[in-house]
Amino acid sequence: MTSTSSPPGGPRLRTAVAGLPSYVPGRSAETALTAALASNESHFPPLPSVADVITTEAGRIHRYPNMASEELREAIALHFAVSTDEVAVGPGSSGVLQQILSAVCDPEDEVMFAWRSFEAYPILAAVAGATPVRVPLLSDEQHDLDAMAAAVTDRTRVIILCSPNNPTGVSLDPASMEDFLSRVPSRVLVVIDEAYIEFQDEPGDVDTLDLYRRYPHVCILRTFSKAYGLAGLRVGYAIARVPVAEGLRRTAIPFGVNRLGQSAAVASLAADDEIRARVSEVRTERRRMIAALRAAGWTVTDSQANFFWLRCRDEVREQVLSALADANILARGYQGDGVRISLADHDTNERVLAVLSKRERFGDQ
Ligand SMILES: *Cc1c(COP(=O)(O)O)cnc(C)c1O
Repeated sequence: MTSTSSPPGGPRLRTAVAGLPSYVPGRSAETALTAALASNESHFPPLPSVADVITTEAGRIHRYPNMASEELREAIALHFAVSTDEVAVGPGSSGVLQQILSAVCDPEDEVMFAWRSFEAYPILAAVAGATPVRVPLLSDEQHDLDAMAAAVTDRTRVIILCSPNNPTGVSLDPASMEDFLSRVPSRVLVVIDEAYIEFQDEPGDVDTLDLYRRYPHVCILRTFSKAYGLAGLRVGYAIARVPVAEGLRRTAIPFGVNRLGQSAAVASLAADDEIRARVSEVRTERRRMIAALRAAGWTVTDSQANFFWLRCRDEVREQVLSALADANILARGYQGDGVRISLADHDTNERVLAVLSKRERFGDQ
């Protein structure tokens, strides 16, 4: 084993970094038979039109990409009827979130979010030198917006709302978001992380964009990694008022979104109809799976994302993960909270169901 600590007198890590947990990625497929349901990736292969532009662009990778990602930002702006100056892009929405935090947070400022939520939040906040503030979810898995509003201090600079929330799948409704926005001081940037918004039953676009237009302290964060199926290319974006968006562009790594990512994302937006058809298949499977799991006796949230959530005791979490592993299925467990399982094609989902429908094999949830 190699030691990870520095020799005495050698270079040392910043205190904030030395104490960090590593980001735990969902395990990826080990064999062709393994169902990789731990990372909420799209199970569809790349769209032909997208694969084509990637091939063309591959012949140009000796050249830097467009530094400002102009074409991509224009395509996103057009898609949402905002101006190009209100769009900032980055290497995945995790990359964009890092840009947000380094643009906005001074050391020891506070970054608030619900918990349990996306695992990258506390890590990115700490790396930015900020203090992560976790506000526990309510017992119905909703964000506790009253507690979050009450937890705002002079040091709060960013609040992240994750809707639909990872890993619980639950969405915030626009009316409670609006009520929250009206209570949070306008100096606090409220980031609405919509990594899974495309999967939501009620078309979410209109509502949060409308909130964005009316509340200048809102920043919408989205990704091409999930519904658009470009997780391996790393492209995410934010929509924010011009001064904030400009800050995100300034804190970006130069050329952070590469050539393949820029052109694949533009082609994906152009293929919106095909993406919608895929998303609609996922929704149909989600309805079917949640109904079947409930019929088998599980308590499952009304997930609005491309995964479902079993909140359970640690003992049950271990039983579920090991029964799935025996069936060559990888899912994601969260200590103290439960198990998250990504949705996939009908046959793969059936394999999951075959394991979980034997409810009596597992202890009380
Ligand atoms: C997957 C995910 C992201 C995005 O990841 P990137 O691949 O970095 O775009 C962001 N937020 C949440 C809540 C996610 O689950």
